Amino acid sequence: MKAMILRQICSIEENHTPLELTDIPEPVPAAGEVLVKVSTCGVCHTELDEIEGRTPPPELPVVLGHQAVGVVERVGEKASRFDIGDRVGIAWIYSACGKCKYCREGNENLCAEFKATGRDADGGYAQYMTVPEDFAVPIPELFTDVEAAPLLCAGAIGYRSLRLTNLKDGQNLGLTGFGGSGHLVLKMVKHRYPNSGVFVFARSAKERDFARELGADWAGDTSEAPPQKLDCIIDTTPVWKPVVEAMKNLNPGGRLVINAIRKEEIDKEALLELDYTTHLWEEKEIKSVANVARMDVIEFLQLAVEMGIKPETEEFALEEANRALVELKTRKIRGAKVLAIE
Ligand SMILES: [Zn+2]
Ligand SMILES: [Zn+2]
Repeated sequence: MKAMILRQICSIEENHTPLELTDIPEPVPAAGEVLVKVSTCGVCHTELDEIEGRTPPPELPVVLGHQAVGVVERVGEKASRFDIGDRVGIAWIYSACGKCKYCREGNENLCAEFKATGRDADGGYAQYMTVPEDFAVPIPELFTDVEAAPLLCAGAIGYRSLRLTNLKDGQNLGLTGFGGSGHLVLKMVKHRYPNSGVFVFARSAKERDFARELGADWAGDTSEAPPQKLDCIIDTTPVWKPVVEAMKNLNPGGRLVINAIRKEEIDKEALLELDYTTHLWEEKEIKSVANVARMDVIEFLQLAVEMGIKPETEEFALEEANRALVELKTRKIRGAKVLAIE
């Protein structure tokens, strides 16, 4: 089968073709697993973190990709949840132990044995992949394969981030960074919390216009002061300055949720600007969001159906994965990038 594989960690700025198109054997589903014929796979910023070594795959080569949609082609022994031909999605969570305290309480994203799709196991930048059947999720009919892919990561993690803010209707939410996850969170907030204001901070004027088009109450540059203080903010940027700026914009008792698997080092000195009185005093909190649990994926897909969310997408062929990644790195973004795999 065709797959785009990562053989070694490298800098995308220096190497514009980190992935190599290769012919590798089709995987065989083990007991409890299903083999999925992949039709689409979303391209995520986390792939950049994997390629560049901020969250390196434990073994190389590996097939990246954790927003895969396809149909069940074969089932392994003892796998009975799906029939052949069923459409499923595979998100960032590939597996977890199922027994520990975190797994039992539904926070399997925090399990010590958490495995990530496309990092700890081969993912969806390929014609086929296997997955434990318990971690494949049915895809609601409303969505095409292309539309469903970005919902599996940006949407699910956006949903979890929003849950972790503890936002209540009428409170104001800030979004710093406005990529795939941000635009879905904005739509969710407008649906679930109709009395809440949404304030978007983005570096590019294009992103700010896009935010206003989607109903943001205000949009400004990363360091601009919003017209009022905010109760919670979600940061989806890969850098530090927005964190410092966000803390300044919080109300007393406000919470910043950082939705980024790793932060880059390039502007770490921005943290020296942190002033206890301005940025942290009065019980302001910082919380990160780690991975996603299955319920986040399932509940978000349900919510997306209710809201009729259709993500903005841009399609690439499997062979064009490198170009999609470079564009992501250089922030040529309008909507979510999706590989359409034949
Ligand atoms: Zn992702
Ligand atoms: Zn566990």
